[in-house]
Amino acid sequence: MPETFPLEMPVLLTLLAIGGVIAGAFAGQARFWTFSLGAAGGGLLFGIALFWVIPEVAETSGWAGAVALVCAAFALIAALDMLLMHTGHSPRSGAIAPLLIATSLHCFLDGWSMRALGSQPVTNVAVAAGLALHKIPEGFALGWVIRRTLRASGKTIAAGSAIEALTALAAFIEPAANHSGAAALGAWWTAGVLAVISGSFLYLGFHVVVPERKKRGVVPLFAGTLAAMAVVAWANR
Ligand SMILES: [Zn+2]
Repeated sequence: MPETFPLEMPVLLTLLAIGGVIAGAFAGQARFWTFSLGAAGGGLLFGIALFWVIPEVAETSGWAGAVALVCAAFALIAALDMLLMHTGHSPRSGAIAPLLIATSLHCFLDGWSMRALGSQPVTNVAVAAGLALHKIPEGFALGWVIRRTLRASGKTIAAGSAIEALTALAAFIEPAANHSGAAALGAWWTAGVLAVISGSFLYLGFHVVVPERKKRGVVPLFAGTLAAMAVVAWANR
């Protein structure tokens, strides 16, 4: 990881998400534009996982190993998400702790992914764009759900911002943490980290499209950004 990584980027990402939290804290209901941004960001990140990150895992583990590692990471993330999101996630029950834990883990992984993938020029720009697009609806949904439970906009914004700040924190600590991991486990550490990043990007893509596929523009935006990433990957092969 070169020292030239712009640390303004994860801070900007966190601020975008906090903007979403504030909008969500005051909004009456979910908005059309949040689904559109989510779909476009999901398509970009899905393409990055497919065309850049998984091939990089394959360099260490071979293709069969890469597919197995990424499937395992995907299953783990999906299982964690379902376990945490569907145990008392309903705002009416008042128990939003599982949702806050799931979102905290997710935000940490966002920042970690941005820094870990920041060394390659092509993916650096695409990762920043994809993460930025999905951060706004992510913050919005978080602010909206916390507000339904806490019923106080100040507390909602404080809690949502604290969770989203984990994105910036993860990006700051990634080089040091990654260095110790790589020292202990060698190339397999990097392959494992990249598999987790791919799994989370693929899960995010499924998660923005499958439940919202009936909403206007969601499928075309996802498919369009994914196709654009395929073209960029082909041009840079
Ligand atoms: Zn996110």
